[in-house]
Amino acid sequence: MPEIERRTRAMMRDGLSASPPPRLPQIIEQVTNEVDGFSPQAKREFFDIINRVPLAYEKTNAIFATPEKKKPGGGGVFSIFVSDLCKGCAACVTACGEHQALRMVQETEDVNAEHETGTAFLDLLPDTSQKYLGLYNDARPQDSKTATLRNMLMVRRNYDALVSGDGACAGCGEKSILRAIAAVTEAYMRPLFHAKADRLRATADVLDRHGVQRLADLKARSQAEYDLFRQAVAHLLMGLGGEDDKDTRARMAEHGEISDRDIVDALTAVMRQEAFNHKNLQAIDGRLPNGMSVMAMAAHTGCNTVYGSTPPNNPHPYPWMNSLFQDGITVGWLLGESFIVDHARRSVVPERLGDALLHRTEAVITPREYYEFVHFSDNLMTDQEILELPKAWVVGGDGGMGDIGYQNTSKVMLQNRPNVKAVMLDTQVYSNTGGQNSDSTPMLGGNDMNVFGSATQGKMVEKKTVAETFLAGHGSPFVAQVSIANAPKLYRSILDGIEYRGTAFLQCFTTCQPEHGVPDDMALGQAQRVRDSRGAPEFVFNPRLGESYHEALDLKGNPSLDMDWYETKFKSTNESYRYTVAHWCATEARFRNHLKKISAQDAAKLVPLENMLVRITQQDIVYRRCLDPTHRAFVPDFGVFIRIQGANGIEYRSISRQLVLFCVERRKAWRMLQSKAGIENREYKAQRALLAEVDAGKISRDEFFANAEQLLKARMPGASAHKPAEAPPRPAAAPPKPTPATPSIPDGAALA
Ligand code: SF4
Ligand code: SF4
Repeated sequence: MPEIERRTRAMMRDGLSASPPPRLPQIIEQVTNEVDGFSPQAKREFFDIINRVPLAYEKTNAIFATPEKKKPGGGGVFSIFVSDLCKGCAACVTACGEHQALRMVQETEDVNAEHETGTAFLDLLPDTSQKYLGLYNDARPQDSKTATLRNMLMVRRNYDALVSGDGACAGCGEKSILRAIAAVTEAYMRPLFHAKADRLRATADVLDRHGVQRLADLKARSQAEYDLFRQAVAHLLMGLGGEDDKDTRARMAEHGEISDRDIVDALTAVMRQEAFNHKNLQAIDGRLPNGMSVMAMAAHTGCNTVYGSTPPNNPHPYPWMNSLFQDGITVGWLLGESFIVDHARRSVVPERLGDALLHRTEAVITPREYYEFVHFSDNLMTDQEILELPKAWVVGGDGGMGDIGYQNTSKVMLQNRPNVKAVMLDTQVYSNTGGQNSDSTPMLGGNDMNVFGSATQGKMVEKKTVAETFLAGHGSPFVAQVSIANAPKLYRSILDGIEYRGTAFLQCFTTCQPEHGVPDDMALGQAQRVRDSRGAPEFVFNPRLGESYHEALDLKGNPSLDMDWYETKFKSTNESYRYTVAHWCATEARFRNHLKKISAQDAAKLVPLENMLVRITQQDIVYRRCLDPTHRAFVPDFGVFIRIQGANGIEYRSISRQLVLFCVERRKAWRMLQSKAGIENREYKAQRALLAEVDAGKISRDEFFANAEQLLKARMPGASAHKPAEAPPRPAAAPPKPTPATPSIPDGAALA
């Protein structure tokens, strides 16, 4: 075998410069035949396996070429195994694109059998070693560069974190977000759990050897402190706590003698059990025996409930509870409180008592401390003790959290509980019950209860962005609107939200294929389109960065940051245009009533959207001037047009009045966000100045209508002179408390 490996590696290295490079199974087969020494049957079986395993070494620089160059023998092979639960949405093939590592094939029994065998084979392989994870730090993911966070999915415990959810529709965007939540929480929390287990075991070992002596020393120094310490252990660890001091002492008396050895045994037993739970427990058959669940999930009823709990693909491999639409977050809050009480009683208090006995030379315990231990809350925990708390993730849709459950969500956000984190899967519609309108639904009609017809084209109510409502009036939560459009940023936001000592709320746009009318492989593409069009801009609000919006709100990640719209180019002509929400809407069938295909000649008789948008503001909609044919802000129904990229060149669409209003509404929402983040929008300033002149009669209506875009440009501050406000430097995150493997012994303490 060593000879086969040596020769195989040599051929792989040579293969890097060959075109096309030989496939790895061919190399292995050739080398094995050359080396020989195996029976024909052994070779046949070996080749059968090798030919079925997806093995790649070329075009995988981080895995093979770079480590191999650094140290011959250090390179590895890269494999992608497709689960037998694959539903053929093709999202992975679309994302892989021109790399061509993946292709669609017809699903057959043989293909499924190969997938299943492949997955079983994968389970036999060792975990990916840190050397192939690049700059991703598996021991402390929070220290990794954001761009490398996706590498966490090459670590088995992380990609195994969420195995359910396969009851969702093919391509459903929600599942990826849930998997990201579970995987990041696992990646971040598991090393903390293991370090904590090591620390507790080390303390228990020292206590075992020296605890009785330390208690004798304490008794000799202060009988009162000794009695209090003994009572604290009996009360908090041995189950003898009563209604009050008197009752507790009576129960202790009834229990009979409690020796010093009993006290030490109680402390060490709890610590060792807790260490076992955190590091060695195999919570569910089939999962790694690496400790209890790092999180629980509370769900608002919705698609996530159905696809996350319906046989045969259930259940989530962690404690999970569902409640009707409005109550999910309240259940999550209660789960979080339970974790706090449990964590205090089983980990924090025993460890603090043990540490005090071993390391303090005076005031081992005070009456105040005893009182606090009995009434322990998260307020008394250190930052490190908070980080080690299991997390309660609340999951819901825009209906469950933003409409029916909004009051509960608002209540919980205000509490700023350190281990309660919430994610809203924003499909902008009640997906699970047939596509009714939610407050997150855009102004355009098309859904149940928000129909498009002669009486109405949708709703005149602006879109509610739940995440934005938590930027004010809700205390100090961590808030982000992120999506799979920017996976590294999504992972970073989840990490920062977990690490924050307070509630976190993430709003994530996700596709709902049947309700949006988009292809199965478009979860990523549509998330990018809605972000780039200002339909759902990306933002992160991190209160750790300062007490002004300017410092705490970050809009980076959105294109053309200081403009109204993203400036991009048509692929076919390389001509610049601005990507509005109307352009995003043109890609989803749910909005089809709002766009009509027209010819270039017909378009020439209509108003370009660019021109129309200069004439109108959100206040013109609020005061319904957009419906007044005599006003400059009048929007002719299907009298406005856009150009879009078609399969064979530029195409034209006339758009409904309602779609124009939606553009204005989203533009206003984006301008509000920009101003909060301290970004000066040049177009907004120019439009305000221009409209003031028009409304004052300084520019005639005809001239304005004919030249709106040019007049606007003439009033814009020069791009070169303009400098968008810079985000302040991020303060360094407070590092977790170092956790020594063994407790230090104070000078002079007679411990061997
Ligand atoms: S992304 Fe879709 S096609 Fe790709 S493996 Fe997953 S379910 Fe299958
Ligand atoms: S209905 Fe929509 S949100 Fe629900 S599982 Fe299907 S794609 Fe996902």
